Amino acid sequence: MAKILTVLYPDPVDGYPPRYARTDIPVITGYPGGQTAPTPQGLDFTPGELVGSVSGELGLRPFLESRGHRLVVTSDKEAPDSVLDLELPDSDVVISQPFWPAYLTPERIERAPRLKLAITAGIGSDHVDLPSAIEHGITVAEITHSNSISVSEHAVMQILALVHNYLPAHEWVTTRRGWNVADSVSRHYDLEGMDVGVLGAGRIGLAVLRRLKPFDVTLHYCDVHRLPPDLEKELGLTWHPDARSLAAAVDVLSIHAPLHAKTVNLFDEELLGSMKRGSYIVNTARALIVDRDAVVRALESGRLAGYAGDVWYPEPPEEDHPWRTMPYEGMTPHVAGSTLSAQARYAAGVREILECWFDSRPIRQEYLIVEGGRLTGTGARSYTV
Ligand code: NDP
Repeated sequence: MAKILTVLYPDPVDGYPPRYARTDIPVITGYPGGQTAPTPQGLDFTPGELVGSVSGELGLRPFLESRGHRLVVTSDKEAPDSVLDLELPDSDVVISQPFWPAYLTPERIERAPRLKLAITAGIGSDHVDLPSAIEHGITVAEITHSNSISVSEHAVMQILALVHNYLPAHEWVTTRRGWNVADSVSRHYDLEGMDVGVLGAGRIGLAVLRRLKPFDVTLHYCDVHRLPPDLEKELGLTWHPDARSLAAAVDVLSIHAPLHAKTVNLFDEELLGSMKRGSYIVNTARALIVDRDAVVRALESGRLAGYAGDVWYPEPPEEDHPWRTMPYEGMTPHVAGSTLSAQARYAAGVREILECWFDSRPIRQEYLIVEGGRLTGTGARSYTV
């Protein structure tokens, strides 16, 4: 029998289950590039249900209990006296979502001698200390591609919301009960004709570029590896060898690189200062890629015309986090990759990984980040330690 500790975000304040807006979701069987969507042998939830919160349990309980395993689900994760900390020492598997990350620090891993598998229900395993996972022989896996399109749609939405000044205009007619056209249009522009770039043209970044192409913008990207020439031609892409070159060239910059040693604090005071006056940044990647306070200063000075995104540090952020009150922001809590559509895929992916794990079958290479004491599979491409 194994103990599976699952850390999920709390249920809706209005209760669980919520009243769903739609009765079903489209069936997605594959992703760009040819990878298939998860293929578990069974599923104990209806796609489209809220399975990412505590009561949803990622739909895992019937499956795990039918096999004699013990499932513990909690949202209580802040050290030192959290349920996570109390339950961790005899857990065999930890499942966590980037939207409500159970930070598996070296100290926590040290206190979890039985831990052999850490699954990220979503994408982005930087909340797991990968060197410690490697050292302790823990397998780390994530549900690659499960929410990439979800995030790309969120990024495009936030780009349009910032450039068109959507949120303040909305506020004028709702919260402020006004009809203030001039106030609303004073920062209201078209995206058409602008230079728009992505940092990181992987699964999400490339999907953003593809979705922006019909807006008649000039597209740029910066990535470690160049995209194939025919793709650059098809999308009219200008490649930049580094973030500085990209930042200076664009009006709108969307961040889609993972958080690692080379991207941490990349957008510091100096890099932000090198951008055109009135630039926009959207960051749905990881908060620590930008300097928190330098972003606030850049918005106040007008260097940035807007900053949006859905990633914070830590998560959840403190009540007085300056991004909650800074001007010209379009922040959301970390939700881009947790649409009901994405939840169906990553919960199915978690089930697939657990089926493989308990049946001693190999986990798909595309899901693997760490295995056998080294980065492997997708991890070997996307992460550094
Ligand atoms: P991918 O690995 O597919 O793409 C990331 C790209 O960034 C790769 O092409 C990589 O290059 C490139 N890259 C890495 N380092 C740099 C650098 N220093 N400068 C420029 N480019 C760089 O990842 P995804 O597109 O799937 O996801 C990107 C990130 O988005 C995730 O790491 C995660 O943090 C975040 N995310 C956020 C979600 C949300 O809900 N907000 C949900 C899902 C993911 P190469 O591989 O060629 O070396």
